[in-house]
Amino acid sequence: MSESEGAPKKRFPLTLDFVTGDAGRKKAVTSPRMNSLQTATQNAARHAASASSSATAGKTSRPVTGARGVSGSSASTANTPPVSSTKITSTSTGFASSRSGSSGSTLPKPMATHASERSDLPLVSEAVRKAMVQRIAQQGVSDPAVLSAMEAVPRHYFLEPGLASQAYIDASLPIGYHQTISQPYIVARMIEVMRGGISGRLGKVLEIGTGCGYQAAVLAQVANEVYSIERIRPMHELARTNLRPLRIANLRLHYGDGMLGLPQAGPFDGIILAAAGLEIPQGLLDQMAIGGRLVAPVGERNQVLTLLTRTARNEWMSETLEPCHFVPLRPGTFG
Ligand code: SAH
Repeated sequence: MSESEGAPKKRFPLTLDFVTGDAGRKKAVTSPRMNSLQTATQNAARHAASASSSATAGKTSRPVTGARGVSGSSASTANTPPVSSTKITSTSTGFASSRSGSSGSTLPKPMATHASERSDLPLVSEAVRKAMVQRIAQQGVSDPAVLSAMEAVPRHYFLEPGLASQAYIDASLPIGYHQTISQPYIVARMIEVMRGGISGRLGKVLEIGTGCGYQAAVLAQVANEVYSIERIRPMHELARTNLRPLRIANLRLHYGDGMLGLPQAGPFDGIILAAAGLEIPQGLLDQMAIGGRLVAPVGERNQVLTLLTRTARNEWMSETLEPCHFVPLRPGTFG
């Protein structure tokens, strides 16, 4: 069985029609399919069953305290039985409406040399990447668009040469500055949860924590526009260097504090946090489109993957999925 069957193969550099995407996407995004939540829950349950640790995954829909962000103290509730979904209203005035933002674009510029011609990286066969994708599928990720994206992006481009041979094992790896590239499974899982079972492309997506740029590249395969923020300047520069040869036209990198989001570019159909905070900043909640989905690790030592769905202007739903482990979300900028 080929998990990526049915989804078009994508090769870099991406073509213009790939960047543009289809116009039908937004409709799907503003009407999230509820069965996707069930899928996420089933997956979480499977992961929990296979993990012998005491931490038990499960769906826990709960209120969102809109005025203060989502508290991470709920991480400890991962072991509690699911409770019914609760709607909570917020006094929030909503997200900023400016959608211009393109003038400040830090879009990677095309390079004369195609990535595949880089000589400083070992040749990694596509079969190795296919095997990685098969393992991810076996772990419960089933969205064909996500599996196809994982197969299209050369993960070894984002690692220093000494680690490139390990690029396709299912592990997080160091990328410098005490940060790590997330394990392939969790990258795929988070994007699948954010997509929520839709069949087409997402509209606008924001990533907090660019790191080496790998997840941003994967996101750019499944969304029309991707914005990614990194707070460590040299890491931001590294991501730009890593991504430049891939010439991904629908990806914009920003240096700054991602806890503030990117109001000038929102609202976003999807937001992914690649670092764990004790709560999800209110600014990010406000920058979600109605029907938009935010996926984030929440907690300190005991982190849980959390899905927020904005169901109305002043209403969000929260679900906790499975245990996870991420580097911390930190305020401000560095470097
Ligand atoms: N998605 C990345 C994972 C990077 S690890 C990848 O594919 O490589 C998480 C990153 O989040 C780190 O680089 C860290 O510096 C960054 N980070 C933490 N807090 C942040 C914040 N407030 N704003 C932006 N980036 C942040």
